[in-house]
Amino acid sequence: MSTNDNLVPANFISQIITHDLKEHKNQGKVATRFPPEPNGYLHIGHAKSICLNFGIATEFKGTCNLRFDDTNPEKESIEYMQSIERDVQWLGFEWAGLYHASDYFEQLYGYAIELIEKGLAYVDSLSAEQIRLYRGTLTEPGKESPDRNRSIADNLDLFQRMRAGEFADGHYVLRAKIDMASPNINMRDPAIYRIRRVHHQRTGDDWCIYPMYDYTHCISDAIEGITHSICTLEFEDHRPLYDWVLDQLPSLAHPQQIEFARLQLEYTIVSKRKLNQLVMEKHVQGWDDPRMPTIAGLRRAGFTPKSIRDFCERIGVTKQNSWIEMGVLEYCIREDLNENALRAMAVLQPLRVVIENYSDEQTLELEISNHPQRHELGKRIVPFSKVILIEQDDFAEIPPPKFKRLIEGGEVRLRGSYVIKCNEVIKNADGKIIELRCSYDPDTLGKNPEGRKVKGVIHWVSEQHSLPAEIRLYDRLFKVPAPDNEENFLDAINPDSLQVITDARVEASLVNAKAETGYQFERTGYFCLDAPDSVDGKLVFNRTVSLREGGWGND
Ligand code: ATP
Ligand code: MG
Repeated sequence: MSTNDNLVPANFISQIITHDLKEHKNQGKVATRFPPEPNGYLHIGHAKSICLNFGIATEFKGTCNLRFDDTNPEKESIEYMQSIERDVQWLGFEWAGLYHASDYFEQLYGYAIELIEKGLAYVDSLSAEQIRLYRGTLTEPGKESPDRNRSIADNLDLFQRMRAGEFADGHYVLRAKIDMASPNINMRDPAIYRIRRVHHQRTGDDWCIYPMYDYTHCISDAIEGITHSICTLEFEDHRPLYDWVLDQLPSLAHPQQIEFARLQLEYTIVSKRKLNQLVMEKHVQGWDDPRMPTIAGLRRAGFTPKSIRDFCERIGVTKQNSWIEMGVLEYCIREDLNENALRAMAVLQPLRVVIENYSDEQTLELEISNHPQRHELGKRIVPFSKVILIEQDDFAEIPPPKFKRLIEGGEVRLRGSYVIKCNEVIKNADGKIIELRCSYDPDTLGKNPEGRKVKGVIHWVSEQHSLPAEIRLYDRLFKVPAPDNEENFLDAINPDSLQVITDARVEASLVNAKAETGYQFERTGYFCLDAPDSVDGKLVFNRTVSLREGGWGND
């Protein structure tokens, strides 16, 4: 009996693998890989693939490799590789092996020779443009290249000379000899090697020919003993080529390619090329800008690995393309932070409140729980003193209906502290409210006032003890749900995706705020320290998500 007999498979891919294990396919082994091209930072779409591939390895006690698909040196870099490794680890996964397609360049070359020797590949002198014209269309078959029937000996000679650097870039390509009339255009003698003089970040100038993706991918999978090669739906039409290459190379194992629907997330973009454009053209501040759907951006915004894994699980794995609402991702982080974020108080738009009947010298050190339900998370000291700050909009001169906060002559409770009453409103020469004169009821600490009900509770900080902070409020990066469908996705950028509040004040305990620790600023939202931009004397906090769906404001 297999260990998985009593488990419900997580998705259709797990079902396939469960079935394969029952048949004892691959000697009962399960090996997957996550194969990014290091041409950008990973995004939330990649997270789906990572969770799927590594998740399957865990589910079936198999292995998952991280493999860099580094066959396009002009777009790739070591920085991207390092960011990818960091992001996969941060998400909580460990690869069995770390490989690069470039590790296999010599073997790939050898297999190309094998194909040529079998009469299954030829060197073609048609230009890229001619090859395109010869390829035909969906309704018309392609045309054979005049070079298609070059002799094996000539092909071998030319291919070796391609490698030796005798020809200019683009002068020849090596093509698989399959079927120019195939209804699948990918099978119409696809190029498998091209001449390209670019420095490769790992192999330097060793090669001036580079293998193409489709040819490289299946062989890399086979070399690593991958059993299930999971990729997104757009590769369904490439599967016949994947299988063809491996069928011609019988010494290699033959992994099974399985396709699933890629993640499409509303109000954002999941394409490295377009994300790269946002970065290069400075529409955002970098790959880790908290508005970016990159793992690095989500991390800087305060998303946790758990929330992202939870999101990937929730959206499921199917063969149907569909759009996922941003609300799903926000729900996942809210769930996590509601349970785990430490509570704190921050005043975004301070209004000075002087408590006239409180002593000038006294500071009361209140002990307030870090989490209302989880007492094991401890308490912190919140100093209370004569002058405090509250949010400007927690006071109303002319209160709207049902306003439960502070009004002139009215009372409100300060969270974790006393009930105060507003006695007088002080304005400047322009009529702007600059201060409230209040009094506190000493008999209301931790208990209700006698004989009257005070409904409202507001947050506050002590003026002299609080710390200056910059608060960054993020909104969606795009104005429309599907920016990808716009003629120019840049036109759909939300001009108000970042609001910076430079003169907020946060409670004193946040001097110890750590990166990647979530805080719930009471009544305001979930926040985290922006470590890169915080300096002594000026903390910066990023809003991760609002407290409630659709709510961006204070209440
Ligand atoms: P991009 O268009 O963003 O560059 P890609 O598919 O070209 O994406 P790769 O680096 O080739 O990026 O992707 C590595 C793996 O991640 C592939 O197996 C790919 O199928 C998967 N992947 C990429 N984008 C998504 C997505 N939106 N949803 C699910 N899986 C994805
Ligand atoms: Mg790609």
